[in-house]
Amino acid sequence: MASLRVHDKEFDPFLTEEEIRTRVSFIADQLNTDYAGKRPLFIAILNGSFIFASDLFKELHIEAEICFIKLASYKGSRSTGHVVTAIGLDHEIYGRDVVIIEDIVDTGKTLTEFLPQLHHQQPASLRIVALLHKAEATVHPVQVDYIGFTIPDKFVVGYGLDYNGLGRNIPEIYKLVE
Ligand code: 5GP
Repeated sequence: MASLRVHDKEFDPFLTEEEIRTRVSFIADQLNTDYAGKRPLFIAILNGSFIFASDLFKELHIEAEICFIKLASYKGSRSTGHVVTAIGLDHEIYGRDVVIIEDIVDTGKTLTEFLPQLHHQQPASLRIVALLHKAEATVHPVQVDYIGFTIPDKFVVGYGLDYNGLGRNIPEIYKLVE
């Protein structure tokens, strides 16, 4: 894998398709075991999680539902610190086993602001799966129950993640050259 340019920035290879695929299968296996017989509702947070959610969901062999919501807390490569719900939740989650699918947990701000809205609706259980977790960047601690990769505090693109709108269609994950 060679380095690549997205807009004005240079990115180096970080995680290969194979590494991602292996890890996604591993998480799916855990979910298949943990949610057998429970019919969980997965809530994927758009836009960044759409590819991860799709690959993960295909590997679930249990009865499961999925829906999508959109929040925004990021602009460019630095957090703006605002969480906005653009597309609301259209599923009843009272009494359901709910699993949030996130692309990446960075400072934890997005989920810290959003989770109380879900808890308020009294799901039977609420867990979080995130493909990437920047553990060093945590400002608002969030318990992430299933983690694909714990990564350094570097800006990444690819596999659904963008830099100012571009890079989501890259099958691998690249990190910013600083
Ligand atoms: P948090 O609220 O945890 O700081 O940020 C979560 C959101 O910020 C993620 O869902 C993602 O949209 C965005 N984000 C955080 N780090 C990165 C990154 O390295 N690359 C990209 N493309 N988005 C990121």
